[in-house]
Amino acid sequence: MEIQHSNNPYYSHTDTEHLDVSNEEWKKILPKDVYHIAREKGTEYAFTGKYWKTDAPGIYYCAVCGNPLFKSGAKFASSCGWPSFYEALRPNSVRYEEDNSHGMNRTEVLCERCDSHLGHIFDDGPAPTYKRFCMNSAVLEFVPDDPNAQ
Ligand code: FE
Repeated sequence: MEIQHSNNPYYSHTDTEHLDVSNEEWKKILPKDVYHIAREKGTEYAFTGKYWKTDAPGIYYCAVCGNPLFKSGAKFASSCGWPSFYEALRPNSVRYEEDNSHGMNRTEVLCERCDSHLGHIFDDGPAPTYKRFCMNSAVLEFVPDDPNAQ
């Protein structure tokens, strides 16, 4: 689903100031599926998101606040069914939290600017970092370098 920004006064690709916006407010702004993953720490089903196979050159932004998160060059073909990256665009594009939910010990990845849940990070990625940022397509927004590319 194409994200509408006209009703989202917080959306910016350049503003790095931390946002402190309540979930009540986000609920009014975000599409339902985005809200569920970003603010309720949901997970989309594998192989269903819009970006798990995407390999065009471009930048992936936070679908909630517009923060630049990943470059396509750090994306790799992963069999897991979610868009996977080996590094964030900037070290402080994201932040990390320990997540012990669902009987697992995982590291949650959140948008540094708006604190939205993005996915998890694992240690089974490719060189050079050997990390796998396992992200939900619904909380990403891809802007291709070539606007005619898909
Ligand atoms: Fe964000």
